[in-house]
Amino acid sequence: MAGTDVLVIGGGIVGCSVAHALARRGASVLVLERDHPGGRASATAAGMLTPYTGGLAEGPLLAIGSRALEEMGPVAEEVRELSGVDPGFVRSGALRVAGSEREATLLRDQAAKLEDYDVGWIGRDELLEREPGLSSDSVGAVWSPREGYVEPPLLTRALEGAALRDGVRFERGVPVQAVRIEGNRVRGVQTPEGDYAAGQVVLCAGAWSGLFEESLGFPIPVEPIRGQIVELRRSPGTGAPIVWGLGAYLVPRQDGRLLVGATEERVGFEARVTASGVQGLLEGGCSVLPEIRKYEFRCARVAFRPGTPDDRPLVGRVPGVEGAWLATGHYRHGILLATITADRLARALLEGEAPVELEPLDPARFKA
Ligand SMILES: Cc1cc2nc3c(=O)[nH]c(=O)nc-3n(C[C@H](O)[C@H](O)[C@H](O)COP(=O)(O)OP(=O)(O)OC[C@H]3O[C@@H](n4cnc5c(N)ncnc54)[C@H](O)[C@@H]3O)c2cc1C
Repeated sequence: MAGTDVLVIGGGIVGCSVAHALARRGASVLVLERDHPGGRASATAAGMLTPYTGGLAEGPLLAIGSRALEEMGPVAEEVRELSGVDPGFVRSGALRVAGSEREATLLRDQAAKLEDYDVGWIGRDELLEREPGLSSDSVGAVWSPREGYVEPPLLTRALEGAALRDGVRFERGVPVQAVRIEGNRVRGVQTPEGDYAAGQVVLCAGAWSGLFEESLGFPIPVEPIRGQIVELRRSPGTGAPIVWGLGAYLVPRQDGRLLVGATEERVGFEARVTASGVQGLLEGGCSVLPEIRKYEFRCARVAFRPGTPDDRPLVGRVPGVEGAWLATGHYRHGILLATITADRLARALLEGEAPVELEPLDPARFKA
């Protein structure tokens, strides 16, 4: 299907991944980005790749999240080679720490269900060997050695670079206003600069995707969930794991940065770092790792996650509209899930075969 024109709306990590996955299979792709690629949620995220300790363990996303984690090594290597940008993938391991015996009972059960994924329970002594500064309340933890993190802005830049190498065109500063449909077929999109023609359109506009509900004539229940995150600095070092506590998570970087995240707020598109947001994160972080009080405060950032009513992304065909596709609503796991959903969506779009992994993400579940 070489030469097919696909227009991608939005150049965050999902849009860049989709563009790359389509172009790699021979499609001719144009990305229209309102600002500049990778400047929104994908620039602010902590970059954790934590399907097990990060909350997917209970739902239908576990299989796809687990596969995404395993594919990240080869994906990171491939885009690094194509773009020259290293996405900073580190398999640091992740801990979900129990601060009480009651919590320990719950987490032990969770760990038992994840044995097949190399996840297990560790007691206090082993826990303190892995992260010596933890609070004295810590009684044990779920330990997941295969999880880790990337640097989201670098992974997004690497995907953009790889897409450019494959011939994708990016136009910046172009806000798409609507998808143009004639009969039941996509004809392109409308922008203040005029219309762009395309037979296939993939909506990757993150938290702003709901704005296309009217022109697509289909429910897109994506809402912005504000996330604030704090960046601290400690001494550089390798080997520190990600730590999930009750009030906050801590994500290390090898150069000494430590991210403390993140708030989850339904306040519309109010892009403000607030005093109470930062206070809550620092208090939560201190209750997990008290020594962070001594670390240098670097900055705090804010962005909007694309949330959905069932916390699952919307990936696949828009029912009833030929040529319209969604790849949005990745909520708290868009960095983990972007490349795998893009790969499977590209297969569905270009080869007409919807991979079984996309079933739980099918937009048709919201059909009125
Ligand atoms: C504080 C925080 C921490 C997070 N931590 C993690 C984590 O550790 N691990 C993880 O997996 N995920 C994490 N996430 C979630 C992750 O960041 C998102 O799921 C992911 O970035 C969504 O990517 P996206 O491309 O859909 O959206 P975005 O990155 O927001 O990109 C959407 C793009 O679309 C463009 N756009 C919007 N409307 C239009 C339009 N009309 N026309 C043209 N362009 C348009 C925007 O300008 C933007 O560039 C975190 C998020 C936050 C906020």
